[in-house]
Amino acid sequence: MIERTIFGPDHEAFRDSFRRFMDKEIAPFHEAWEEQGYVAREVWSKAGANGFLCMSLPEEYGGSGADLLYSVIQFEELWARGLTGIGYGLHSEIVAPYILRYGTDEQKKRYLPKLASGEMIGAIAMSEPAAGSDLQAVRSTALKQPDGSYLLNGSKTFITNGWHADLVIVVAKTDPAGGAKGTSLFLVERGMPGFEKGKRLKKLGLKAQDTSELFFDGVRLPAEALLGGAAQENRGFVCLMEQLPWERLQIAISAVAASQAAIDHTVAYVKERQVFGKPVGAYQNTRYTLAELQTEVQVAQVFVDKCIELLMAEKLDTATASMAKYWTSDLQCKVMDECVQLHGGYGFMWEYPVTRAYADARVQRIYGGTNEIMKEVITRAMGLPGR
Ligand SMILES: Cc1cc2nc3c(=O)[nH]c(=O)nc-3n(C[C@H](O)[C@H](O)[C@H](O)COP(=O)(O)OP(=O)(O)OC[C@H]3O[C@@H](n4cnc5c(N)ncnc54)[C@H](O)[C@@H]3O)c2cc1C
Repeated sequence: MIERTIFGPDHEAFRDSFRRFMDKEIAPFHEAWEEQGYVAREVWSKAGANGFLCMSLPEEYGGSGADLLYSVIQFEELWARGLTGIGYGLHSEIVAPYILRYGTDEQKKRYLPKLASGEMIGAIAMSEPAAGSDLQAVRSTALKQPDGSYLLNGSKTFITNGWHADLVIVVAKTDPAGGAKGTSLFLVERGMPGFEKGKRLKKLGLKAQDTSELFFDGVRLPAEALLGGAAQENRGFVCLMEQLPWERLQIAISAVAASQAAIDHTVAYVKERQVFGKPVGAYQNTRYTLAELQTEVQVAQVFVDKCIELLMAEKLDTATASMAKYWTSDLQCKVMDECVQLHGGYGFMWEYPVTRAYADARVQRIYGGTNEIMKEVITRAMGLPGR
């Protein structure tokens, strides 16, 4: 196996401490959380108290000023262990960076320390019942009122961390006739009159994730709720586009980690399980299948590590990140399917990690931009004619 070179000793020490945290605070409860459909709220405050949230934020906002590799490690560890109900990644590396990058000083001071401590849980609400891939089609509106406030109306669906969320970045049209150029981002707090949570959605996988619907019925937002203030009005789409490389790479990182873990589980299983007097792993089909999967996952790991390096050097472009997202999540689904097969009937039983990993994998090809949309992005960068 090719040695990974992106991490230093401090990162590996951190990996150990995060593993201990998962062993104590997450793993023993995750199955119960899958059954209830959401994680315990304390797992957020405990993560905050241990410095595991928003690590890449500057210290003045409650972070550690850490490089992104610490967050990479969290994605890898949670997905390798199948602890997919935990939404730290989206909270720390999607929601908080929007506020850090585009927010006013006032917004940064108001929200970032609370996100870092786990006092507030963050979500981002782009998708709507009739607008997912085609975000320009969002129907939610936030229309400016004579007193400078905005009136938010609309509904969102499939929102990760949505049921627990205290702070939601909401994508809404401020100029409905302006298309992409009429879209803005708003910071909407739990408890604002007219903001209601819908039901937690029952899903094929990520069963402990509190993915929810959100409803906004005449929510009156003060002017200060516009992310970035007046300067960012109608610039929401630009902000969304700028953040895509890192968001897509997060999915690729978790896809490779989950795939490697499934291969490791399967290798252990096929060594033990006897059929026709010898281990499943002794059959050529098993050995060659695993050799092929391991080869592809190794290739994927090297590619993703290179993308991480590029990201940290601020050189990762959206097309390359889209390649990583689509190719590794397709690979993840293929790995899970083959690993389930090699487990026989036990691969269909929920108590087996490979079964859960199979269920959790499927959405990786869908969210963060579907893999078809990733191919659209790649073809555009190749100069091919568009739709
Ligand atoms: C578990 C989960 C968590 C999620 N978390 C969030 C979240 O936190 N925040 C959020 O805003 N959203 C979230 N989403 C929504 C997710 O991003 C969308 O589901 C996704 O972008 C696809 O949109 P859609 O479901 O409307 O599918 P559609 O856009 O209706 O797509 C249907 C099919 O058409 C294909 N298609 C669409 N356009 C094209 C095209 N131009 N060319 C070729 N094929 C095309 C798609 O690839 C897909 O196969 C989540 C979804 C899930 C399932």
